[in-house]
Amino acid sequence: MNRKKLFIPGPTHVLDDTLQAMAQYPMGHRSQAYKDLHLKVVAGIQKVLFTEQTILLSTSSATGLMEAAVRNLVHKRAANFTCGAFSERWAEITDLCGLPQDTFQVDWGLANRPEQIQAALETGRYDVVTVVHNETSTGVANPMAEIAAVVSTFPDVLLCVDAVSGMAGLPFYFDEWGVDVVFASVQKAWALPPGFSVMAISDKALARAEQTPTAQKGFYFDLNRLAKSGAKGQTPITPSIPHLYGLESQLERMAAETLETRFQRHREMAQRTRDWGVDRFGLFAERGYESDTVTCFSNRQGIDLSKMIQLADREGFIVSGGYGDLKGKTFRIGHMGEHTLAGLEELLGVLDAILAKMKGAHSK
Ligand SMILES: *Cc1c(COP(=O)(O)O)cnc(C)c1O
Repeated sequence: MNRKKLFIPGPTHVLDDTLQAMAQYPMGHRSQAYKDLHLKVVAGIQKVLFTEQTILLSTSSATGLMEAAVRNLVHKRAANFTCGAFSERWAEITDLCGLPQDTFQVDWGLANRPEQIQAALETGRYDVVTVVHNETSTGVANPMAEIAAVVSTFPDVLLCVDAVSGMAGLPFYFDEWGVDVVFASVQKAWALPPGFSVMAISDKALARAEQTPTAQKGFYFDLNRLAKSGAKGQTPITPSIPHLYGLESQLERMAAETLETRFQRHREMAQRTRDWGVDRFGLFAERGYESDTVTCFSNRQGIDLSKMIQLADREGFIVSGGYGDLKGKTFRIGHMGEHTLAGLEELLGVLDAILAKMKGAHSK
């Protein structure tokens, strides 16, 4: 089979074992077997997020949960902190849902700062903060612990975090940090095929959502409805059962590897990727805030990036061009999920050979 290796920041590489675990005959989603599976997966996700609070399973991609967060939780006004394409999407969603919001931007490549958030919240205008943990378009990891510490000093403000490309690759201490909502799709560091997402939600956020008019929440993404079913090991609708099998399999793998080793593996892959590319291309993310799951390179030497990406594809390795406004200006390597340092070396070797060839052709 002609299978190309995915080094893009989602969907990322999926192991054959995982694919096989997902390919099981379906069961009734009201059966005891399903409930057992659901509750087992929930308990596993709680461990990954260091939380004892509620885990929700959603048969949707994470963008559905971005929308769910603001529709369920904004009563007064949302403060959307943006630093790239995905955090900007959250502001757009809030607007499109007709909910009051203000957007606080930093330039792409920079991280959101706790002081920026402190200043916004001191106005007293907001009851929800949205922020991205790991901005996939720029390769920036926001300082989550510091941001959460600021939001925690405003007891009426809920902190909602998009950790789509970070969760299960970067540590996330949901309870300790006092986060109210965090979610991710499963095709990133969870290393499953796309089509499913998971959320942790605080008791405080669930209580807020109870007060939200149902017309604002809708049906499919009513978080209280999801939580009530979830408490019984069910979902309100028919879930993607293959994804639960996949999560079960991945959670077992993570437990065997240990989370500590998994996070360390991500740090090592990221460091190696940065060391490799810093002189060749330059790093797009500001120093000290580089992501450990995806690296975004700038293009200091004016290399023909689309050519390079195309040649890598021909060798069976998929890397990613720039996203949104960065199309053509950057390229990205995703090093998350089940990738290994050895696999990464293989990719970097291929890219080096391509760069040498391109340089040779150029100087002829
Ligand atoms: C991929 C990604 C999304 C969108 O996820 P979907 O699964 O496509 O809905 C949102 N935020 C971040 C940070 C992402 O990396």
